Formats: sequence, structure tokens, C-alpha cells
Amino acid sequence: MSANTDDGLLIVSEEICEQVIRRPDAFSAVEAVFGAMARGDAYNFPVVREAIGHADALYGFKSGFDRAGMVLGVKAGGYWPGNMAKGLTNHQSTVCLFDPDTGRLTALVGGNYLTALRTAASSAVSIAHLARKDARVLGMVGAGHQSTFQLRAAAEQRDFERVVAWNPHPDMLPRLAAVAEELGLAFEAVTPEELGAEADVIITITSAFEPLIMADWIKPGTHIACMGTDTKGKQEVDPALFKSATVFADEIAQSITIGEAQHAIASGLVGERDLTAIGAVINGTHPGRRSAEEITLFDGTGVGLQDLAVASVAARLAREQGLVTPVAL
Ligand code: NAD
Repeated sequence: MSANTDDGLLIVSEEICEQVIRRPDAFSAVEAVFGAMARGDAYNFPVVREAIGHADALYGFKSGFDRAGMVLGVKAGGYWPGNMAKGLTNHQSTVCLFDPDTGRLTALVGGNYLTALRTAASSAVSIAHLARKDARVLGMVGAGHQSTFQLRAAAEQRDFERVVAWNPHPDMLPRLAAVAEELGLAFEAVTPEELGAEADVIITITSAFEPLIMADWIKPGTHIACMGTDTKGKQEVDPALFKSATVFADEIAQSITIGEAQHAIASGLVGERDLTAIGAVINGTHPGRRSAEEITLFDGTGVGLQDLAVASVAARLAREQGLVTPVAL
């Protein structure tokens, strides 16, 4: 779905993105593009990520083309650790969309809010397709910026009754508790072992560099969405989980290099062919969960096409609602 600007450039601010795009919009856009990726109709281009040697910043590009949705573009941005002190968020990004027929720039879309929305949509898609229908307890590992988006999106996928949560920094848990309360879900801070024993669905969304959740702690039938590991060296779960679980990924090539799977692959526990693209489940070419006892694991590393998909929807909605006016270039 292109931004459909036939006569100029749309500039869609962070504020307008927050106003126009809703979680179901993001869910549908991400689900569709994962399906297109698995069919070979959409592909991500190699990621560029560089330390620029200034302000401790990491800067880069994620880009791709979705032939099914006719979305072409790039997300540019990165991580500036000193931004908090300046009243800005550390992650900064902007999406540029281009007309696939002509290469003309059609939209500039704020990428900060959309990144959190599309990341939460990714784990939500995995829960929708892989978690047991009778899942009632949601386990949250992590309590940073992304975690509340994750909780809100996950809560819409199953009839959860309770949230159990653990974070390496317990002082961060109250904001997760506040969102659970707002959603009408009971909330309990637990140990990671208790979390593994109680949760039917687990989301990990931390910046950890070592396993926080061990394979032995997870009960049969659990679905776990590993969302925090998006760089070489990061790690959230015991690699042994990749042996006991049926493993899915947003994009296998990225999962095995910078995703959670990098560790299980490096130690030879599993090979690339042990991973399935979640798009195959969406497209019905893989059955997904096969039994109530099976553990399913989704490695969500975050691909550029997710950003482009939600940015395209935001640009279209902003245009339709008269919130942006095309600018002549
Ligand atoms: P944040 O800085 O707001 O929160 C960080 C979280 O990680 C907190 O829960 C904190 O307690 C925990 N943490 C920090 N240092 C840790 C350490 N050394 N060991 C264990 N835990 C630690 O970050 P955020 O914006 O919520 O992002 C969380 C993670 O998700 C990051 O790793 C980020 O890169 C990743 N992320 C992934 C995607 C994706 O598409 N998969 C998208 C956005 C962010």
C-alpha cells in the first residue's frame, strides 16, 4: 500500500503518527509484510549500522521493497545515548518512502513512535499465530520504553487474566504495573523462575547481554517472543531453548546473525534450517503450533520492511484525514 501521493511530499510528524495509526492497523501491516517476505514478494536490503565517532552515536539504515504492498523506502536513524539529558529519546529515526514506479520521494514519516508500535505488532502477530488459545498468564521480562507497547499489543491477542513480570532493574516495574491495571489485568512482580513456571506467553524485551531466562524454567506449551536482541552480542534467553522449542523468526538471515538465534547457531545447537519464517505460518504453508505441549519461540529482530509498512499506513491515514498537505519538491 503506497502513501499514494500523486502531487508532492507528505511530512508526517511524530505527533500525527500517534494520532492516526492504531494497534490493529500496525498488526495488519506487519502481518501482511511478514507474509509477503515468506512468499518472496518483499525483501529487506542489507542493514547499515555504524558508530559515527561523535556523541557515542550509532547511525544506520534499514530498507527494503515490498512488491505486494508497493512500498519502497528506508528508515534512517540510530541511537544517541546522550539524548535523554537533552529531553529527547535516545532512539531517533525517520522513514523516507519512495514511489516504486518513479523513485520520487513521497513521504517523510517520524519513526520513533512507529518503531515501538511495529515492534509490539511483531510479537503480537507471533502470539496470534503461535500461542495456545487458552493462554491466560502473560510473562513480561523487561520494563523499559518498549515494554508497555508490548504489553498493550499482547493483551489484545488472548484473554489474559494476569501479568507476571520481572526486570533486572525492579524499580522500573511500576510503569508496567500501571499499564496492566489500566488494561484490567492483575499484576504480580515475580522471580524469573516463577515467571517461567506461571506464564503461558512470555515476552522478553531487555537490552541484556546474557541469558535471563533458562530453558528448564519454561513450562510445556509456552510461547516465548524474544524481542530485545537486535545486535551482535545481545542475549536474553538460554540457547538450549532453541533445542526444546519450535523456532520462528521474522527474517531468518537476521535472526541467526543479530537476533537471539545467533548464540544457539554459534554453539551448534541448531542450524539455520531449524528456523521457520513466521510468514510461512501466516501464509498457511507451515502449521505453526502442532500441540498444546509444544514450546514455540519467536525471534523478532526487527526488519526495515516493518517500519516501511507502518509508515506507509500512517502516511495514507494522515492524508485521508486531511492532517497533512503535500509539499512540492
Ligand atoms: P530501555 O532502555 O527503555 O529499557 C531497557 C530494558 O533492558 C529495561 O528493562 C532494563 O532494565 C533492561 N536492561 C538494561 N540493561 C540491561 C542489562 N545489562 N542486562 C539486562 N537487562 C538490562 O530500552 P527499550 O527501548 O525498552 O528497548 C529494549 C530492547 O529492545 C533493546 O535491546 C532494544 O535495542 C530492543 N529493541 C528491539 C526491537 C526489535 O524490533 N526487535 C525494536 C526496538 C528495540
